[in-house]
Amino acid sequence: MRKDGIIKMADDFIMHTYKRIPLVITKGKGIYLWDNSGKRYMDFLGARGAANIGYSNPDVIKAISSQAKKLILVTNDFYTAPQAELARLITKNSFADQVFFCNSGAEANEGALKLSRLYSYKKYGRGRYVVVSANNSFHGRTYGTLSATGQKKYQIGFEPMVPGFRYVGFNDIDDMHAALGDDVCAVILEPVQGEGGIYPATKEYMSFVREQTKKKDILLIMDEVQVGLGRTGRLFAYENYGIKPDIVTIAKSIAGGVPMGAMLATKAVSKYFDYGTHGTTFGGSPLAAAAGTASINYILKHRLSGNAKSLGAAALTQLREIKKKYPDNIKDIRGMGLALGTEFYNPDHAAKVFDACLKSGLIVNVTNGTIVRFLPPLIITRQELKKGLDLFEKAVASALQ
Ligand SMILES: *Cc1c(COP(=O)(O)O)cnc(C)c1O
Repeated sequence: MRKDGIIKMADDFIMHTYKRIPLVITKGKGIYLWDNSGKRYMDFLGARGAANIGYSNPDVIKAISSQAKKLILVTNDFYTAPQAELARLITKNSFADQVFFCNSGAEANEGALKLSRLYSYKKYGRGRYVVVSANNSFHGRTYGTLSATGQKKYQIGFEPMVPGFRYVGFNDIDDMHAALGDDVCAVILEPVQGEGGIYPATKEYMSFVREQTKKKDILLIMDEVQVGLGRTGRLFAYENYGIKPDIVTIAKSIAGGVPMGAMLATKAVSKYFDYGTHGTTFGGSPLAAAAGTASINYILKHRLSGNAKSLGAAALTQLREIKKKYPDNIKDIRGMGLALGTEFYNPDHAAKVFDACLKSGLIVNVTNGTIVRFLPPLIITRQELKKGLDLFEKAVASALQ
């Protein structure tokens, strides 16, 4: 079927919740995507952080092909080796003692919110249920995670939100201090706000939050759904801050593109999720778990965190050079590892840059109106990164002329 026919069919029969780029994608390999005319694109959006190990990763293909022949799914009424092995791999490489598997980032956060309230309820009784989250955050689209999301635009029309959420200014120590009352069970934060526009938390802020929450036995949840698994230069983003959270959520890049999420916790917290408290049909299926093990092993074996760290620094340098040439148009350059943002003053400029990038074969993303976001696969080489940012610079030049 031709491009126009596919787009029309999709628009006729699929709900219009996405603003789609009018391309029909047929193939992905490494950092590249192909459309149905055979044109190749460099993908600096990286599936919004779900393609850290690249498209069609050979190790993941091998793992899921072999697992699919044995067992794709069995309910969590049974044990499976792939699930046990992935849990051990994740805990061995993190602060966590135990894991709960699910199917998405929203579900991982939903589990974290439920576990936090249960922890507080079982230890302290009723009334200690408030979750503090940051303005400009994004935690998902389910009711709990939407309520945790500190951006009105996602909530409008869906009210009332779940009660018991309190929003504070991100990186605002005084605001956080004031919010941590006796009714609080948890704080949920993205180490780098992703959808909000690539805003990293400061070290000072994270240390303060950890110190205060520990003192008050309030759980600290790090939402690493977008920037976990190597993106920030460490396997987990919290490692950059020299702190240990109580709960970490991951998803997007956990299983090489197969839907999966995981909620990680210390035993002191995870023990409250006992029999019957939470569950899922598909979470941790043998197929997804096999993909997860292959994916995380790939990140470790190929030292993709280290690549993100050194290439992220190179990218920041190159982006700052570009900013110097357009001081009246580019407001800020930010990032941590290979989570990078270029903020424009004018949303029209960001939109035009996006279009010009696409025309030249580079896929980027505009988030929060003015921020061009880059989340390239972590397997990218130095040459490819430079080439992509050169294309970006040309796009900026043509968009601003
Ligand atoms: C994408 C994202 C989510 C939601 O993940 P889904 O898999 O789309 O449900 C939650 N938190 C953050 C930080 C994200 O980037």
